[in-house]
Amino acid sequence: MLRLTDTRTRQQEEIRPEKGHRLRVYACGPTVYRFQHVGNLRTFLLGDLIVRVGETLHSWQVQLVQNITDVGHLADDTGIELSGEDKMLLAAREENKDPFEIARFYEAQFLEDCAALNIKPADVYPRASECIDLMLALIQTLLDKGHAYVGTDGSVYFDARSFPSYGAISGNRLEDLRPGHRQAAEELADGKRFHADWALWKYAGAQRQMVWDTPWGKGFPGWHIECSAMSLHHLGETFDVHTGGIDLRFPHHEDERAQSNSAVGHEVVRHWVHGEHLLAEGRKMAKSTGNVVLVRDVVDRGYDPLALRLFFLTGRYRQQMNLTWDALAGADRRLRRWRSKVAEWAESPSTAMCADYVQRLRDAFDDDLDTPTVLVTLSELEKDGDIPAGSKFETFAWIDRVLGLDLVRDVGRPHDVAADLPAGAAELLQRRAASRSAKDWAAADALREQLAGLGVTVNDGPDGQTWTLG
Ligand SMILES: [Zn+2]
Repeated sequence: MLRLTDTRTRQQEEIRPEKGHRLRVYACGPTVYRFQHVGNLRTFLLGDLIVRVGETLHSWQVQLVQNITDVGHLADDTGIELSGEDKMLLAAREENKDPFEIARFYEAQFLEDCAALNIKPADVYPRASECIDLMLALIQTLLDKGHAYVGTDGSVYFDARSFPSYGAISGNRLEDLRPGHRQAAEELADGKRFHADWALWKYAGAQRQMVWDTPWGKGFPGWHIECSAMSLHHLGETFDVHTGGIDLRFPHHEDERAQSNSAVGHEVVRHWVHGEHLLAEGRKMAKSTGNVVLVRDVVDRGYDPLALRLFFLTGRYRQQMNLTWDALAGADRRLRRWRSKVAEWAESPSTAMCADYVQRLRDAFDDDLDTPTVLVTLSELEKDGDIPAGSKFETFAWIDRVLGLDLVRDVGRPHDVAADLPAGAAELLQRRAASRSAKDWAAADALREQLAGLGVTVNDGPDGQTWTLG
């Protein structure tokens, strides 16, 4: 039985799909006015793990919906709403392009990055700009049911006080949410009745691009209504799991829950599951901090992008992780070693998987996606002298359907030994051979040390230097 930590109930819950073998999952998707950094990708990996565990270990048929926010998102990296300009439009102006051109470009990049990390595609990627009718219909329902009102400026607001359980996900109670003075004065001036109310639909000034006509005037959607409209439309009035980054608990998911539940009159999302932050060199990854890492930075340094995926799996999704280049180098070495071992084991006759290891791997995944334990168990299996090579091969190949590390990539290929070397090691080996020819022993020793740091052990023999991976 799969158990996940449910943010709303604040405990682990058993995941039992409401519809038998069909698990329905909604994953909050990217805002496509910039590249997704690897911290965002870690969050998307959470959804992918749930999908893969469901399909491979529980034989569920998983339906995954992930939205593409290509309009109307006025929030910064921390999910706090900005009173300033829409970032999509800002990016369009900076890059001197049409906002939709920007959105499609970064959407394609997002899909490419997901593919590089073996994150399985969602069944559907609804775009906010193409779901305006769904949002308008939902806003009308909320107006009809008395949960929303039209402000004096043509914006439509959700009446937070009409939803008594507001705050259940984040623990932020309405009475505790006190606005800053400036914000209060600005926002309440537009006909907003209460500081915690939020815009479902925003009135647009004359200069703005990306606007739509509505009964209330020209405008554009708020961000939160997008996820309510899309999830209700694609997954129905209740669905099993909703994922997202921890930042999204408040206000995004709190507001989404209030909208969806108010529209249908009951709890829509059965389980809310949130992924923790990825830090880079000890600090939260953000453009303003200057420590943003992209998938292409990882590739430019010579690492396999799946080394990043393996690095993420060394932590549990609900724990903060700190990305360092050293840690990534370690993951890259382990990935290459495992691929090479799996190819080697594949040469032996196939033998049934070892039931004990299989059970331990299943249990670890089911225990709130305890991927660190999965990896420790695999390292143990790798070294276990009592298990036949053919059985190790079958077990690694099977569990890789969940891990998604392409561990069988080198099976059956003529073995290219140099491909096992970690990034930069081939060059160091060449320089060391040259130092030895020149009898520069000090340089050769220094290079040996450097190589040892990369996990490459160098031995000198009569035919020159040889190496092994530690
Ligand atoms: Zn969302």
